[in-house]
Amino acid sequence: MRIDHSGRETFSGDPGVEINNLSPYITGTFVMGGGVNRIEKIKRLASVFWHYKTRSTVLPYMPIRLWVETTNRCNLACTMCPNAFDSVSVRGLMDLGLFESIVDQIEGRANDINLSHRGEPLFHPGLADMVRMASRRRLATRIHTNATMLDRERGEQLLDARPDLVSFSFDGYDKETYERVRIGGIFEETLENIRVFLEVKRRKGLSKPYTIMQIIEPRDADESYRRNLSLFGQRMRSEGLDKFYVKKPHNWAGNAPGTTHHTPGYLVCTFLYYSMTILWNGLVCPCPQDWYGSMILGDLNEDRIEDVWNGAPIRGLRRRAIDRDLDDLLCSNCDRVFRNTFWGVPTENIKAFFGETLAGYDNLRRFIRK
Ligand code: SF4
Repeated sequence: MRIDHSGRETFSGDPGVEINNLSPYITGTFVMGGGVNRIEKIKRLASVFWHYKTRSTVLPYMPIRLWVETTNRCNLACTMCPNAFDSVSVRGLMDLGLFESIVDQIEGRANDINLSHRGEPLFHPGLADMVRMASRRRLATRIHTNATMLDRERGEQLLDARPDLVSFSFDGYDKETYERVRIGGIFEETLENIRVFLEVKRRKGLSKPYTIMQIIEPRDADESYRRNLSLFGQRMRSEGLDKFYVKKPHNWAGNAPGTTHHTPGYLVCTFLYYSMTILWNGLVCPCPQDWYGSMILGDLNEDRIEDVWNGAPIRGLRRRAIDRDLDDLLCSNCDRVFRNTFWGVPTENIKAFFGETLAGYDNLRRFIRK
C-alpha cells in the first residue's frame, strides 16, 4: 500500500483524534519557546515514554529527534546500503530556506537533529551554516559522514560551526576489509581525513563534537575480524576518538539485502513516537527505513510539522502499529520492530539516548567510553 500525501488519505484503522490527557509531564513543556535545558529534554523524553507506553495515537508534543536529509547524493556504494541499488530516486540538495523553516518550527520543542539521511552530508555546501542555524535555536546537531570528503578545509569549517556529534561510518580495520564494503572509498585517504579532523579538534581545544567511529559488523565476521577490529578501535581511541562503536546491520525494512536480528516478539515502532524524517525536497517519512518514500506523511513546503505529526496518515499508522496490522506496508518487512527490549522499550542505543539527554554531548565522553 502506498500512502499518498496529496490525496490526504488516511490509513485504514485511523481512529480519529484521541488526545490522551493522562500525561503528568506535559504541562508547560511543549508550549514553552526558547531553550533546550536539561530539564526540558528530560521532560520531553518522559512524555514520549508515557505516550508510547499508553499507546496514544495523537501526541501532545513534537518529534524530539529529526532526521533532516541535507542531500541524498552519495559518492560511495556500500554493500549494506540501499544507495548502492537505488537508481530511481531523484537527487538533490535541501534548500537553506526550507531548512531554516524546519528549525524555526521545532525550536524549543525538539532535542536534536540529524543532518543526514540517505546521502553524504558533506556534499551540501551549506552544511556548516545549517549547524549554526540549528545551534542558534538550541538544537543539538548530529552528523553522520563517510569522511571521504572531509579534507582539512571542510573539517576546519565544520569544527568552527560546533556540531555536537560527528559519526564516521567506517566499516573495516584495514584496506582489504574497508574497501570490500565501502565501495569507492580509499582506506588510507579516509583514515587520514579522520585523523586530521581529530587532531585539529584537539589543537583547537574543543570539547565538541563527540566523535564516533561506527563499524557495521559484516555477517561473516569471525574471531580474527573482531580481534583486529578491537585493536584498531583502541588505536583510534588513543588518537582522540571518543567512541568506537560496532553495530549489527539492520535490514532497512527490506530495502537492503540480508535480514538480521529478528528477536522473538514484536514491539510497536518507536520511531512513530519520537522522530520524524524529512527528505531533501521537504517530503516527510515516518522513519529513515522508508528509503523510497513509500509512506509519505506530508510536505513541509506546504504543511507545518505539527500538523503532519498528528495528521491522519501518521495517526492511522500508529493505530496500525499498535494493532500489528502492517501486512500491506513497508513495515511488514522491518526488523526495527523485533529488538530486545526492557520494559517494552528497545534496549539498543538506550544508554546513548539517556546519556545524550542527561549528560549532554559535552559531557558524554565521561559517561560512554567504549
Ligand atoms: S516499522 Fe520500520 S518501516 Fe515501519 S515506521 Fe517503523 S521503522 Fe519505519
